[in-house]
Amino acid sequence: LSDKLDKALHTLKGHGKITEVNVAETLKEVRRALLDADVNFKIAKEFTKKVQTQALGQDVLTTLNPGQLMIKLVKDELTVLMGGETVGVNLAGSPTIILMSGLQGSGKTTFSGKLANFLKTKKSKEVLLVGCDVYRPAAINQLQVVGAQIGVEVYAEVDNNNPVEISKNAVKYAKANGKNVVIIDTAGRLAVDEEMMKEISEIHKTIQPQETLFVVDAMTGQDAVNTAKAFNDILNFDGVVLTKLDGDTRGGAALSIKSVVNKPIKFIGTGEKMDALDVFHPDRMADRILGMGDVISLVERAQDQYDEEEARKLQKKIAKNQFGFDDFLTQIQQIKKMGSMKDLMGMIPGAGKAMKDVDIDDDAFKGIEAIIHSMTPSERSTPTSINASRKKRIAQGSGTSIQEINQLMKQFNQMSKMMKMMQGGGGKKMMQMMQG
Ligand code: GDP
Ligand code: MG
Repeated sequence: LSDKLDKALHTLKGHGKITEVNVAETLKEVRRALLDADVNFKIAKEFTKKVQTQALGQDVLTTLNPGQLMIKLVKDELTVLMGGETVGVNLAGSPTIILMSGLQGSGKTTFSGKLANFLKTKKSKEVLLVGCDVYRPAAINQLQVVGAQIGVEVYAEVDNNNPVEISKNAVKYAKANGKNVVIIDTAGRLAVDEEMMKEISEIHKTIQPQETLFVVDAMTGQDAVNTAKAFNDILNFDGVVLTKLDGDTRGGAALSIKSVVNKPIKFIGTGEKMDALDVFHPDRMADRILGMGDVISLVERAQDQYDEEEARKLQKKIAKNQFGFDDFLTQIQQIKKMGSMKDLMGMIPGAGKAMKDVDIDDDAFKGIEAIIHSMTPSERSTPTSINASRKKRIAQGSGTSIQEINQLMKQFNQMSKMMKMMQGGGGKKMMQMMQG
């Protein structure tokens, strides 16, 4: 029977699959959300195209409802685009040399401190912080304050203004003093310029770090992508640190950067304090970019539009006295969709708890659906043709009894009558009545 049921459900026009209207409507909203989140236009377009191809042709009845499936498709694809897996920092080498790069104000010094603190407390490493920002008088001092806060030694040379030399000396010092990790904080400029690139590239060549990290301010949006590309061309860095994600920034830059330089985002910064080192999780960032609440509502909105269209079609049928069991089935599908609301709500922080005790039973309609699926198309469209011998066949086919069929027929007749009476009321009122 369940095979038969599956087959029947497959042939249900427009209900086994996400319809094209649905997908186009939803993806338009998704693309808007991506653009709002600072995702590059071209990337957003390619992205929605990819999801569209996946969405059309997916059979949803065997998995989830269309709305949920859309959310899942979009989220999964975003996660993949951002690297899929979390990538940690490479701690090979003795000592491990980690070089920070990026523009001024991106958060290099702050992140150097966070990373040092993390490696010290969580990985029991002896860390040396190195101040190579020799241009701003306050820069070395800032690093020393950070170092004092977390109890990590800071290497600096007050009278030396050659960062290449300082970094070389620092590595020597680290080796002589049993340090496991050397974190080199460098100077940035307000914008990409030749001098800065030359300097960082020389430091890079001289000390040959195991890990070169590019630090970028997420709030700079599209500029972040160009900066990332410029630094990657020179350094071929190993990973990205995306800072200042604690504000309203949605982090779309993450997706763009990953797409353009194809390097993993390893950490994110969500505050100025030293204790919070946030490892980058692609799936969480996907949630953030989409602003999960927003996407749920937009998927629902697209779904509602679709439902309204169906309701209009139904009204026409009622008016023409053409309401049959197929339409009855459609109504059941609509009601079942409400069941999945519970899961959708569960994704909204806070709302999940409130919905926990609400029980919406998916199985409530199984018997009814089985009976209708055992009817022939002509029986469905002309229920009056269902006589005693047909009832017997339907009961056998659906694994139910004649009594159950009679009860369904009775319900159906009552409903048809009612619908005829309230003509124009559409599916919503009917649903309310059915639920009593
Ligand atoms: P650098 O010039 O690249 O060394 O950048 P800094 O580490 O000095 O950071 C510049 C400013 O951004 C400072 O005021 C930091 O406190 C702040 N900052 C750095 N990272 C974050 C972050 O993740 N969130 C917030 N809100 N501020 C940050
Ligand atoms: Mg700095």
